[in-house]
Amino acid sequence: MRPIRNIVILTGAGVSAESGIDTFRDAGGLWEQHRVEDVATPEAFARDPDLVLRFYDMRRSAVQEKEPNAAHRALARLDAEWPHGLLIVTQNVDDLHERAGAKRVLHMHGEHLNAWCTACDARSPWSAPLLDRPPCPACGERALRPDVVWFGEMPYRMDEIYDALRACDLFVSIGTSGAVYPAAGFVRNARDLGARTLELNLEPSQGSLWFDECRHGPATEVVPAWVEGMLARV
Ligand SMILES: [Zn+2]
Repeated sequence: MRPIRNIVILTGAGVSAESGIDTFRDAGGLWEQHRVEDVATPEAFARDPDLVLRFYDMRRSAVQEKEPNAAHRALARLDAEWPHGLLIVTQNVDDLHERAGAKRVLHMHGEHLNAWCTACDARSPWSAPLLDRPPCPACGERALRPDVVWFGEMPYRMDEIYDALRACDLFVSIGTSGAVYPAAGFVRNARDLGARTLELNLEPSQGSLWFDECRHGPATEVVPAWVEGMLARV
């Protein structure tokens, strides 16, 4: 078996759940009483932009009141101390990995704390509401939308993700359902090229059978224990 140097870590809602951040999936397809298709699709934004902006203003505000948990902190420590390649690919749109101190983070589904200008394509850090149509800091047009990948839109930076998967010796999936593509397919991309694969999740997921090893339990317990073990090898 080849030595482990390059690691790709995919994180999902299960990592942020213990910080109090819920998702559509937790609530059986409803999120703050809204259906996915009413607030998280380009069609919804075209149909009722005020509803969508108000919804994301609420989420953006809520995220800023949450704190990173022991799983975020353990991953930040691994990022700081792992001497080889490492990339945290997150499906989460909160900034809890970064606030825990992680640097090598790629947000494939965008970020609550960014705004994207549909006029000039600039992305700007954004913590305030968008409902009142503030001007874009780059071009001045009132054309900002949440910088979040909606259902039916292409995730960000897929080329970088696939490059990292090709180069990794270990792929770890943490707190994801294994149900949403393309992320659900990453384990097969990695293992087809000879990487070891590990799932850390609260319970067996739809994708569990694709992994060499699965460890089940709360992220705040299984992630720090795994990180301890990895850093003991360094
Ligand atoms: Zn602009």
